[in-house]
Amino acid sequence: MNDSPDTTRRVPVIIPRPEHNVSRAQISNNALKVLYRLKDAGFKAFIVGGGVRDLLLGREPKDFDVATDAHPEEVRRLFRNCRLIGRRFRLAHVHFGRDIIEVATFRGGPVQEDEPHHVTTDEGRILRDNVYGDIHEDVWRRDFTANALYYNIADFSIWDYVGGAEDVREGVMRLIGDPEERYREDPVRMLRAVRFAAKLGFRIDPASEAPLFKLGELLAVMPPARLFDECQKLFLSGHAVQSFEHLRHYGIFRLLFPTADAEMDSLEGEVFRALVLKALENTDRRVAEGKPVTPTFLFAVFLWGAVTRMAKELREAGGAPMQALLDSADTILRSQQRHISIPRRFGVPMKDIMAMQLRFTHQHGRRALRTMEHPSFRAAYDFLLLRVEAGDEPAETAEFWTKLQDMDSEHRRSAVQPKRGRTRKRRRPPRRKRPAG
Ligand code: ATP
Ligand code: MG
Repeated sequence: MNDSPDTTRRVPVIIPRPEHNVSRAQISNNALKVLYRLKDAGFKAFIVGGGVRDLLLGREPKDFDVATDAHPEEVRRLFRNCRLIGRRFRLAHVHFGRDIIEVATFRGGPVQEDEPHHVTTDEGRILRDNVYGDIHEDVWRRDFTANALYYNIADFSIWDYVGGAEDVREGVMRLIGDPEERYREDPVRMLRAVRFAAKLGFRIDPASEAPLFKLGELLAVMPPARLFDECQKLFLSGHAVQSFEHLRHYGIFRLLFPTADAEMDSLEGEVFRALVLKALENTDRRVAEGKPVTPTFLFAVFLWGAVTRMAKELREAGGAPMQALLDSADTILRSQQRHISIPRRFGVPMKDIMAMQLRFTHQHGRRALRTMEHPSFRAAYDFLLLRVEAGDEPAETAEFWTKLQDMDSEHRRSAVQPKRGRTRKRRRPPRRKRPAG
């Protein structure tokens, strides 16, 4: 039984509407519909988590999560457009076209050793956790104080059990409860600490920060698919540079992308480091401009250092350049998959982007024209530009493809004409006289 004095607190500090800046006008209509229907049916209904936190900060929330005392089946009865999901913990998804409002029933506690619904591993990691409870129990299962504020639709007040409002004001990420225990329960919280610090510009409270330096290894047991999801949030939400720097600082990046980390720290790693940083900056810029981003590009960059190193070794051992590159990409991607699972729909184009880097050096004939028609051309070309910027490839390689894209098909054909007399001759190795005898 958890008897730390904090977690027995049953009465929140209630911040009335006039004393905070969260207004209904900033909450999506769909979230409001869900809240009001729950309330009208006699249930408690709150917005919790990132929605409240971001509104307090004057930021636009990514989404609104609803917490209620209605059980999932009761939620389903209230909404025709509702689906129940989740095995570890049942959640209700209320669909409005493409918009989904997630409705979670308050989770129970306190956690008893012998309680069958709450199962942990020997290391204290939560495997199953599916007891319903009340709001004053739910709050202690949340991760950070800033994420544990509840906006009550009944009177527009904010309920704060954990000092979250002050931490939001001060810009502090602070785990609720004993930090080490909370990270052990769910090691992904380490990545969440980094993500929120990066995204919000918050500092991590010293007690919540110290374990980050030593518990990173726990991520090794997490399902690679969950780590992939979390990595997308870390690197594709507009704060990739900050996320990366925090992860490197805490020694966590090496546990997620071991080959990239080792390459960066190697003696010849300077160009690769520059490439990674440029790619992260570029991703953040695209997000800020509202352009689409995919994990393909960034993950290709992360693996590029190790892939080229291995390809070089294979070439030196007599391998053909393209085969050496493809084999290396396969091997490095496979070893990366042990840490973070990269779905096939990203893995395949990732390898294409890498293979295209070699094709870009062949600038003659029909083959060059076909390079331009490749579905990954655009991404591979962007990758090439970054490599040029980082000093990984001469500028002329990119200039050729930049010009070629601006030409009509007539000019393109003549641009890729092999220069007669020169290229042809080169193809055939000079005939050597057999040594006599
Ligand atoms: P975002 O802006 O990324 O949506 P968020 O704080 O809303 O941030 P979510 O992942 O949407 O984060 O989770 C919603 C809420 O659920 C969190 O604010 C937190 O209270 C709780 N939560 C999510 N993941 C965990 C976790 N691993 N451990 C404890 N509580 C969690
Ligand atoms: Mg959220």
